[in-house]
Amino acid sequence: MGSKVLEKYLSENLENLKSRGLYSVIDTLEGANGPLIAINGRQLINLSSNNYLGLATDPRVVEATISATRLYGAGAGAVRTINGTLGIHDELETKLADFKHTEAALTFQSGFNCNMGAIAAVMDKNDAILSDELNHASIIDGCRLSGASVIRYGHSDMQDLRTKAEDAKNSGKYNKIMVITDGVFSMDGDIAKLPEIVEIAEELDLITYVDDAHGSGVLGGGAGTVAHFGLSDRIDFQIGTLSKAIGVVGGYVAGTRQLVDWLKVRARPFLFSTAMTPGAAGGCLEALRILSESKELNDTLWQNGRYLKKKLKELGFDIGKSETPITPCIIGDESKAQKFSRELYLEGVYAKALVFPTVPSGTARIRNMPTAAHSIDMLDQALGVYEKAGKRMGII
Ligand SMILES: *Cc1c(COP(=O)(O)O)cnc(C)c1O
Repeated sequence: MGSKVLEKYLSENLENLKSRGLYSVIDTLEGANGPLIAINGRQLINLSSNNYLGLATDPRVVEATISATRLYGAGAGAVRTINGTLGIHDELETKLADFKHTEAALTFQSGFNCNMGAIAAVMDKNDAILSDELNHASIIDGCRLSGASVIRYGHSDMQDLRTKAEDAKNSGKYNKIMVITDGVFSMDGDIAKLPEIVEIAEELDLITYVDDAHGSGVLGGGAGTVAHFGLSDRIDFQIGTLSKAIGVVGGYVAGTRQLVDWLKVRARPFLFSTAMTPGAAGGCLEALRILSESKELNDTLWQNGRYLKKKLKELGFDIGKSETPITPCIIGDESKAQKFSRELYLEGVYAKALVFPTVPSGTARIRNMPTAAHSIDMLDQALGVYEKAGKRMGII
């Protein structure tokens, strides 16, 4: 039978969401998440994955996950601190530190877990965190979990950050103050103003924390946003995910040896959740090897991104202020954006609409994620659909 209270809670709330059109159905892919996907027996050009470099479906990465699985087994068998640390985890961490130009790195089971563990490992109720208002949900939750006072500053508003940082410092209330930002903001594709953030941080002795989930593998020739600005030795925490450009799953912190030593005894998901699978670690190692040997995938990603942006803009779409391959098409009205996404879908293009509360009200958009695995021909086909549907709906 189950609890009546729970049943009432669930049915009322589900009904409420559904009646307001806010309960979205999850699509299931019949196969891999490559540049072309199949849903309900139909083939679609995929513009919604984070598989920036096409590595999730790269045969070399797939093979590497299989070999690592054969060698080390399907699961790590324990949390890292008991006896779940396998040779392949150490290898991956050494490689990640190289990749990020830091002394050391520590992996987690996901980027989300990494933010859950890393922030609370150093910040507590006697501290304050300055957080960009558009930071990712996992940063917001990680900050809450730490118990520190969270002070939000306007998106990439350096004057606001400076004022709030000075106020926090002068209040004398906090032992430590941290500033946290995404490296690349995934809704608009804009880049954090890291040189200015570092300047303010160094002046006021703030701890710096950059979550570069969308920048790694994309900016700085692949090394990420911090490397793009040449700031590798001036950021305390560089967070990355292994699930986007790297194409597998997992998260990591790159920083000093001392920081990593501390996280090993204080980051709770590291201590209390089983280590990432050996297969995933092997796949990540191969992805990093591919990235360090050739810039080809990175170059193709940028070429495709520039091409898509240029063509959408020529067609008359509002593509916002993206500085990365992430290409939004800002529609404004929520239901119009949903309808446009649906029209694209019916004509063979998978590009999701992002609406409030994921983006501010009245700025609903379709977000396009071109990857290195798309051919120009696929992008042209998608653009043809954009033009037709856009004209039909009076968007362009
Ligand atoms: C996607 C994302 C995460 C979560 O990473 P996962 O590895 O998918 O858990 C964390 N932070 C930011 C900024 C992200 O974009």
